[in-house]
Amino acid sequence: MRYWSAAPLALSLLLAQPAYALSVDCGRLLDVKTGKWRDKVSVVVEQDKIVSVEAQQPGAPGDHLDLSGYSCLPGLIDSHTHLTMEFSKSTYSDKFRLNPADYAIRGTLYARRTLEAGFTTVRNLGEDNNTSIALRNAINAGFVPGPRMYTAGKYIGTTGGHADPTDNFRADLEGDPDPKDGIINSPADAWKAVRQHYKDGADLIKIMPSGGVLDESRSADNPQMTEEEIKAVVAAAHDYGFTVAAHAHGAEAIRRAVVGGVDSIEHGTFMDEQDMRLMKEHGTWYVPTAIAGQSVSANAKIPGFFPPQVVLKAIAVGPKIIDTLGRAYKYGVKIAFGTDAGVYPHGQNAQEFAYMVQAGMPPIETIRAATVNAAELLQHADSLGQVAKDYQADLIAVKGDPLQDVTLLQHVEFVMKAGTVYKKP
Ligand SMILES: [Zn+2]
Repeated sequence: MRYWSAAPLALSLLLAQPAYALSVDCGRLLDVKTGKWRDKVSVVVEQDKIVSVEAQQPGAPGDHLDLSGYSCLPGLIDSHTHLTMEFSKSTYSDKFRLNPADYAIRGTLYARRTLEAGFTTVRNLGEDNNTSIALRNAINAGFVPGPRMYTAGKYIGTTGGHADPTDNFRADLEGDPDPKDGIINSPADAWKAVRQHYKDGADLIKIMPSGGVLDESRSADNPQMTEEEIKAVVAAAHDYGFTVAAHAHGAEAIRRAVVGGVDSIEHGTFMDEQDMRLMKEHGTWYVPTAIAGQSVSANAKIPGFFPPQVVLKAIAVGPKIIDTLGRAYKYGVKIAFGTDAGVYPHGQNAQEFAYMVQAGMPPIETIRAATVNAAELLQHADSLGQVAKDYQADLIAVKGDPLQDVTLLQHVEFVMKAGTVYKKP
């Protein structure tokens, strides 16, 4: 019971655990690099790794898993999730009722839904309590099923900004969040906040250099960090081997973040041509999260779902992301797949593929964004994002041809992560 000593019985029965080599026999396998299908391929898995990818030999010895009617792809990667929360009408008041343990326990359900939807790896971009760090540890230890998580822990931002956990609270409750809570107001604070993240066990850093949609302050796009503060975060992050993801809607905030050296711009709603040019120059990734934009616009129409100020921002920002993504793709900005899962219900992540196609990306490019590109953004391009020798044994399968119809990726029927099968037809 190497993987699942703590798994409930019903769950353990679902899991095929390769003690030694297991051949997954795929009807066809997508080579995401070339964009071509290879027919009748065996993916041979030992422990957590792929040891070979070869033509199927009839009567080959060993354990076989028959996926002959299926199209196999690498496990998908979502570069922007929030696995310890999920938006609902009560999200704003929940802050006063729920404890960190409540968020952590809910996170175990969201993690499982994400994995079963075919997402074997996520970059988790922020929360208020570091519960995502406990969730990651629980997944890694085999206590709960979930995707391989790289988590940013708490957000880093400035007083009254999108990361401030007591934004718009009444005066006697608002306190004065500080670098320990991820709230900085100088380059020196930035160093302290990043070092605190190292101490807490985060894997990367998430900053909030612009306003956001879902907090109750006025602007969704104003700049909220100075270039010096961003540069300090990036310099400190690099000391500890962290990458930096930047939530940014406004053009000026995007410019500062890119010039400041961040690795990715998240959302990027009001990205202008200067921003795109700078992103190409600096090699900055764009993680569009189109589904989040669509979801907040839809929820803004439901009376009482969001506070009034959030409704105004959601209507202004939400519908624009698909257009921005289309422009950025045409301009040649590097794109990694990410969805802001938690802003919409976990497990629906694959809907993003259809929005990316709607924005003008060919299906194979959307799949590359969710595999090789996302792996490169994570700095794990040598072990994730491909079905190839020595890579992690992360494999999914669907019926039909997702290169013809990306919505098929919303119906993943087989999921293997690190050599363990979590879902079978
Ligand atoms: Zn987010």
